[in-house]
Amino acid sequence: MSDADPLVIPPRGRGVFCNRTLNFRSLHAIGYDMDYTLVNYRVDIFERQVYGFARERFLEQGWPVQGLVFDQGMVARGLVIDTQTGNIVKANRFGLVRRAQHGTRPLTFSEQRAAYADTLVDLSDPRWVFLNTLFSLSEGCLYAQMVDLLDARALPEVLGYRELYVRVRDVVDAQHMEGRLKADIIAAPEACVVLDPETALTLLDQRHAGKKLLLITNSDWTFSSAMMSYSFDRFLPGGMTWRDLFDLVIVGARKPEFFTSRAPFFQVVTEDGMLRPTMGPLQPGVAYMGGSAAQVEKDLGMSGDEILYVGDHMFGDVHMSKSEFRWRTALILRELEAEVEALESFAGAERIIASKMEEKERLEAQFSQTRLELQRLREGYGPRGQVPAADLETRLQELRNRLTPLDLEIAPLARAATELTNDRWGLLTRAGNDKSHLARQVERYADVYTSRVSNFLYATPFVFLRSPRGSLPHDPTSPGGTSTLPPSEGIADA
Ligand code: IMP
Ligand code: MG
Repeated sequence: MSDADPLVIPPRGRGVFCNRTLNFRSLHAIGYDMDYTLVNYRVDIFERQVYGFARERFLEQGWPVQGLVFDQGMVARGLVIDTQTGNIVKANRFGLVRRAQHGTRPLTFSEQRAAYADTLVDLSDPRWVFLNTLFSLSEGCLYAQMVDLLDARALPEVLGYRELYVRVRDVVDAQHMEGRLKADIIAAPEACVVLDPETALTLLDQRHAGKKLLLITNSDWTFSSAMMSYSFDRFLPGGMTWRDLFDLVIVGARKPEFFTSRAPFFQVVTEDGMLRPTMGPLQPGVAYMGGSAAQVEKDLGMSGDEILYVGDHMFGDVHMSKSEFRWRTALILRELEAEVEALESFAGAERIIASKMEEKERLEAQFSQTRLELQRLREGYGPRGQVPAADLETRLQELRNRLTPLDLEIAPLARAATELTNDRWGLLTRAGNDKSHLARQVERYADVYTSRVSNFLYATPFVFLRSPRGSLPHDPTSPGGTSTLPPSEGIADA
């Protein structure tokens, strides 16, 4: 290949984005989660189904839920349920609440301020429930709608918001554990599973590049085997099946406990999932149930930085493997493709916002300096200019007159920026004009993040991913690095 040969460049939304430098050549094993990582589902089908079954359970208990309908945009991954108040909130990277709704009703700015002015979202407190994965959407939607019913005193029992959450959680949890949901998907996978022909080739590339591949999923054997077979076998060469891709298959892994426990492994001995206790080191090519990451690491004979784990669950896959084992981590964030597309189509408006903000900051700086000059003149201290007080007053008024229409021009653009991809909640990775709480966790726990596994195909198994050179507010490349300007609301009172 010469310098002139074109590289295969994927669309930006299918890039592999890097928080911490990751050299694929120094990885010796790559572990994969299954659901929403290697196997992708249509959220509208899967979550609607979970929601529908959960609603049936509540109906059986006499709850008036017959009119409720699943709304995919009601919540989004990365939002947080406040179980103390029945609210759903979006927080920024510092835990400050930036948007909130009570039940299904968005809070006004002053309601939100009253509720959260002195409260930070702290995920170590059980009050807050983070929506970690796309599997959280049915639960979040149902809870919001149930809060409305609770407030309307329409429920047959008297419950607090926290108790209501526990009830919804238990019922949704049970739908995943009962056979019906999975049996329906196994019977007609084409209705729900989204095939990606490039994923099989991605894994083949990695295997042939000498990586050991592991499957570590919480799903049971029957479901995992059906989903993997449906998603992979058709794309593999010459009679290969999905089993031939993996050195180690672990189902029923019980993440996040998988990363903290010393639970035993069981061997899956028949196609219908019969189990046998097993002792000794893990054997290549064997499928197991249960177990622990500690034994995987020990039996692979690798250190944490030689293992990459790829998953979609912010806590169970990425946070835990990073914090407990220092494994290298990749988060699969399917929504990223739509997010990047929306950002790209909004880039023109973003440039207008930036130039208007620059003008606003310049006017505000002039305003502050003039105001200070007036103060010193009136109070008779410090260095003073020659301009009379009346002229300074006039200058302040002129600046106010220019700032007010500028704010009116910026406001609708800034609002549109917060409504990209979802009118209620905006982009997953942004909160107001800052990073969202989700983005902060991605930064903290995921070495890299990407929209789907097959994006590693473009990156190749030999890629050296480098983190961006930092961008702190004082970096010369950061916009407006030097000013500490007051907000223009303050100017109106001056
Ligand atoms: P993984 O992503 O491959 O580890 O597998 C996720 C598994 O967890 C799937 O079988 C899901 O059905 C299941 N799951 C998702 N949410 C819940 C829940 O709330 N309770 C129990 N199982 C769940
Ligand atoms: Mg998963």
